[in-house]
Amino acid sequence: MSHGRPRRRKRSGPKKASPQAKAIKRRVEVAGTITVSQLAHSMSVKAGQVIRVLLGMGQVATANDVLDMETAILVAGEFEFEVVNAAFQEEKLMIQVEESTENLEGRPPVVTIMGHVDHGKTSLLDRIRRANVASGEAGGITQHISSYQVNHKGNPITFIDTPGHAAFTAMRARGAQVTDIVILVVAADDGVMPQTVEVINHAKAADVQIIVAVNKCDKPEAQPDRVRQQMLEYELVSEEFGGETIFCDVSAMKGTGIDELLESIQLVAEVEEYKADPKRHAEGSVIEARIERGKGPVAVVLVQHGTLKRGDHFVVGTEWGRVRAMVDHRGKRMKTGGPSTPIEIMGLNGVPAAGDNFVVVNSDKDAKALAEHRAEEARMQALGSGRRMTLEELLKRGSDEEILKLNLVVKADVGGSLEAIKASIDKIEVDGTDIRILHSAVGAVSESDVTLAHTNQAVVIAFNVRPDANARRAMDGLGVEIRTYKVIYEALEDIENALKGLLGPDIQEVVHGTAEIRQTFSVPKIGTVAGCFVNDGKIARSHQIRLIRQGKIIWEGRLGSLRRFKDDVREVSGGYECGMNLDGYNDIKLGDVIEAFTDEEVAADV
Ligand code: GDP
Ligand code: MG
Repeated sequence: MSHGRPRRRKRSGPKKASPQAKAIKRRVEVAGTITVSQLAHSMSVKAGQVIRVLLGMGQVATANDVLDMETAILVAGEFEFEVVNAAFQEEKLMIQVEESTENLEGRPPVVTIMGHVDHGKTSLLDRIRRANVASGEAGGITQHISSYQVNHKGNPITFIDTPGHAAFTAMRARGAQVTDIVILVVAADDGVMPQTVEVINHAKAADVQIIVAVNKCDKPEAQPDRVRQQMLEYELVSEEFGGETIFCDVSAMKGTGIDELLESIQLVAEVEEYKADPKRHAEGSVIEARIERGKGPVAVVLVQHGTLKRGDHFVVGTEWGRVRAMVDHRGKRMKTGGPSTPIEIMGLNGVPAAGDNFVVVNSDKDAKALAEHRAEEARMQALGSGRRMTLEELLKRGSDEEILKLNLVVKADVGGSLEAIKASIDKIEVDGTDIRILHSAVGAVSESDVTLAHTNQAVVIAFNVRPDANARRAMDGLGVEIRTYKVIYEALEDIENALKGLLGPDIQEVVHGTAEIRQTFSVPKIGTVAGCFVNDGKIARSHQIRLIRQGKIIWEGRLGSLRRFKDDVREVSGGYECGMNLDGYNDIKLGDVIEAFTDEEVAADV
């Protein structure tokens, strides 16, 4: 079936629809989203015309901006085009299944071990694996893939190894919810540490069960009760304290408490009744993937529905292939693998990403078509991601629901400010709205904060701190908004106004450039002069300036002078050195960073 190219009609005077012309509906195919220029192209009009129509609708856009389906329909309507949704073609190529509870059978729980660095995640994972190898295999066991299944008294449990909670959330951002239960490892001699709190918040945001493994209980200085005490603050209340969170005292080194831990996992699994349909075609998620010499691309996938068979055709993320060989965690070849089984597969045509969706299809033709379609979609999304998800947009998005939900990640320079800001946010009450602080901590905004915010459509509130380099990169890639404040009440006012829908098009900060301090001189009567190198963008005399030390904002104000060699200059661009001094501030140190910014008024709906 072909839609046919819209025939060019002869123009005879002003547009007057003849009966035939009306019958030939002009169509544009839109696969979920379309760029302004593509839409213009498929309607044989200039991009400028589309941009003008958008402007008429109150939306400022450029040719590369991505329009959603609704907007595309409106715009196309103006040109008397009908939008045909081409997105459902994806479904046409997928094998359809009848969802029926009758087909569901119990499946093993999928467990991920997370915790602060050095608290014993790897040791625990190894201990569990060694303690539960079926007899006869012991000794001969080789660690083939890091995710594995153990058999605990006849009940299998699957352990997934992810490189940490940031990766866990990044996988979730790709749509993969693989974990049922998180084992939070806390060293009994060290107690709750920053990453412990991050794990708690990442796990809570993912809505998974948490079991706390209090590790290193063999140490004389171990204080398992103190861990229970500390956890109260994060609403993980142990049974001893009248709560429902399971705590297990273990020693990964000595092997004590491991049985009880596995017992507890089994207990949670029994209550939760994890189920899947083993008879349908396989679907799952990529845990890890790499190129292996002599084998080509290999991927470890977790089967989540159905049964994977050797010879199956599949699409995975934007890659595709056919299962040439599959092996389990011991490196043993297998022919089939059911729900909750981690399997290493060969036969991919490329390397997928962790968290990519894996699904079996009918033929290699379908697999290839799907992969190509997804690659195209990913390209479109990359085009669209330059656009920041702003506080305003997030609220607008949610406005269809009855309660407006605003998710926040809050970072601050010191504990005192953090507590104050959190307490004040808790007090904000605007009818019909709900604020949730997903995570809060002292320190610069990190990559893990950005992925958490992205996955949960949250805004990062940064109080006297700035994103570090990794966070900035992630931020640009994902389009997460970070709002920086120096005064608590300004942050609160913004949040409150946003919730009240008052946060109109107003002031937004634009960062123009950054420079690093490479030298400092003390000059009589002037003060400290800093020798800088402009890393990116530019720094101008007229900009507002902030001084950042290890991610923290030390000072904000204006430049006292800006010089290239001996000359006063108006601005200095990236790649050049310059000298500057800060108006009224002399405590400049080597390695500090200067950030130049301005507050600019932004137009509505941009
Ligand atoms: P990870 O960073 O969380 O993966 O931690 P590791 O498993 O690498 O362990 C960090 C350190 O703690 C290593 O030196 C381990 O030997 C030690 N360790 C792990 N578990 C225990 C335990 O139960 N008792 C004692 N005493 N040391 C442990
Ligand atoms: Mg480790």
